[in-house]
Amino acid sequence: MAELREIPPEERPDHLPVWRDDGQGLQINEIFYSIEGEGLRVGQPTTFVRLARCNLRCHFCDTEFERYTEMDLDEIAAEVARHPAEWVCFTGGEPLGQNLAALAARLKADGYRLHIETNGVVAPTPALCDLIDHWTVSPKGHPVVAGFARITELKYIVGKAFREDRVEEDRADYIYLQPESSDPRFVQKALEILTRHPRWRLSTRIHKTLGLP
Ligand code: SF4
Repeated sequence: MAELREIPPEERPDHLPVWRDDGQGLQINEIFYSIEGEGLRVGQPTTFVRLARCNLRCHFCDTEFERYTEMDLDEIAAEVARHPAEWVCFTGGEPLGQNLAALAARLKADGYRLHIETNGVVAPTPALCDLIDHWTVSPKGHPVVAGFARITELKYIVGKAFREDRVEEDRADYIYLQPESSDPRFVQKALEILTRHPRWRLSTRIHKTLGLP
């Protein structure tokens, strides 16, 4: 399991997430309501909690995750409660770059169902594994680390570099292929790969089509 420690400011590259052991304060980029637009939960009303910063720099990334507000658990829970969703999705940036266990326990106790979307490079703690109902791991050119108790869906971005022989089919209940940036060339590539793997599925980003956040 990847070991996370608090990195002193003088050693810390600015873009890296900040891990704090108590998890009582988190760097939040935004909290917003929308419809889940990708993968198995597509169509479900969801409150998204976007954690700031990311440990990777993908060339196709279209997410703004650098800005943040320091929020404590009461502030986050109050903001989540403003929205009419049963599901809360932790996204980023890289949500596992910060210590989410205390927030997840708080929201679980408040009756929410919890989803995480992660790049799979940082292992979750066992405490967090027990609290999350739906795991989306979306590898970005790096192997998925050990430590995920159960992965609901592995979602691969299909672009030029995608290799179907690197799909870790045995590690997840569902495999999704998502064309990079909805580029028609990569849609075609994904459709062609699906002819060889009929149990895998196509994921498109319906929130983008609908103009939703
Ligand atoms: S892992 Fe996700 S959030 Fe991070 S840079 Fe890549 S696409 Fe963006």
